[in-house]
Amino acid sequence: MPKPKIEKKITPLFTAPKGMQDILGEEEHYWRDLQRVVEKEAQSFNFKKIVSPILEDIGLFQRATGETTDIVEKEMFELTTKGGRSLALRPEFTPSVIRAYLENGLYAQPLPVKLYSLGPVFRYAQPQAGRKRQFHQFNFEIIGDKAPVLDAQLISLFWEILKKLKLKNLNIQINSIGCGQCRPAYERVLKDYYQRNLSKLCPDCRRRLKKNPLRLLDCKEDKCRLLANNAPQIVDHLCEECHDHFKDVLEFLDELELPYILNPSLARGLDYYTKTVFEVWPQEKDERQISLGGGGRYDLLVKLLGGRDTAAVGFAGGIERIIDLMKVQKVEPAKVAPPQVYLAQLGETAKKRALKLFKTLIDAKIKVAENFSKDSLKSQLRTANRLGVRISLILGQKEVLEETIIIRDMTTGVQEVVDIKKIVGEVKKRLRR
Ligand code: AMP
Repeated sequence: MPKPKIEKKITPLFTAPKGMQDILGEEEHYWRDLQRVVEKEAQSFNFKKIVSPILEDIGLFQRATGETTDIVEKEMFELTTKGGRSLALRPEFTPSVIRAYLENGLYAQPLPVKLYSLGPVFRYAQPQAGRKRQFHQFNFEIIGDKAPVLDAQLISLFWEILKKLKLKNLNIQINSIGCGQCRPAYERVLKDYYQRNLSKLCPDCRRRLKKNPLRLLDCKEDKCRLLANNAPQIVDHLCEECHDHFKDVLEFLDELELPYILNPSLARGLDYYTKTVFEVWPQEKDERQISLGGGGRYDLLVKLLGGRDTAAVGFAGGIERIIDLMKVQKVEPAKVAPPQVYLAQLGETAKKRALKLFKTLIDAKIKVAENFSKDSLKSQLRTANRLGVRISLILGQKEVLEETIIIRDMTTGVQEVVDIKKIVGEVKKRLRR
């Protein structure tokens, strides 16, 4: 066996920014598989793709996501253009999608409008396991209908994606956080409760209590979690409309036999949610309660951004976390079929002819490997062996002149010379054997 070459490691002049990573090699087929599943389910559920800019006016997130949320308060990547406009890298998709819906007059289409996106999202937080500064989400929104069946349908779509990725032991955490009618009264009750326990709260929650008491419910600090467990529950304070809506969502989930868990502490960190909120958690989740994705209804957001009164519901899945769980659960993503044919060439004339032949073969849907930068036949056949192809095609000066090509069976080593014009049929015939 030849000795492996030991490459001296280079110290690069630049490295990727903290909390951001390249996606390479082994990772790539997880990404490809996930993207394939998301696109396929989006089509089955009749969603249209929307690709919005990664940068948006910073005011969009301040207004939509909310000034008191962690995302807006501390986590936005902000920049000022030369013209003095303040922009932010999107920290989530929903505000961009609603901005695009309004700006492009999509409300004139038959409602509901169903849109999905996939791409990078940026949050400036301290990186740790499962938390990056650049990560990726797939995001689904149904805009223009308040029917509870849509909340259930979206949850089932998320579930279907995770199931198609062969993930196991998951559950759906669900809650209703009411609406403008019933939430204020509940928030007063909640404030009273936390006020009585002020000394037991973390500093962040003490600060948040005045402006956004609901946020205290899903604080991850141990002592705050203990308090949240005994806090008054919003389900006991929902108005009739929110109560009925939530009951209907749960009935639809029962109908779909989806395994949900009522979680009265689930509030989600964003300001725009009304009624249903949900997340999907792995059962083997650790104390940090890593969620794979989540979402909910946001019936007030479209109006808040200048549109008409329009109900909507959506969710986002975190791609890196889903891939991490695929690895933990040892789920093998669908691999791309390896090439079955290797195309080897010898000499300049043959290289030119091989370049054209390569195109003929891929047009005929034959998967071919090659290395046009190599000239030695020995090393090309070595690569063919390593790739485990069934056939190698060998093209030299003589073959080009005679308009032939050599077909080598890589298992037996037997070689045949055939007419190059018939090569597609000859290869297909051998691959069928
Ligand atoms: P959120 O709307 O904040 O709950 O985000 C939706 C999903 O995106 C989460 O459930 C995670 O799977 C993923 N996610 C959120 N923040 C991060 C992060 N900083 N790094 C990696 N994934 C994240």
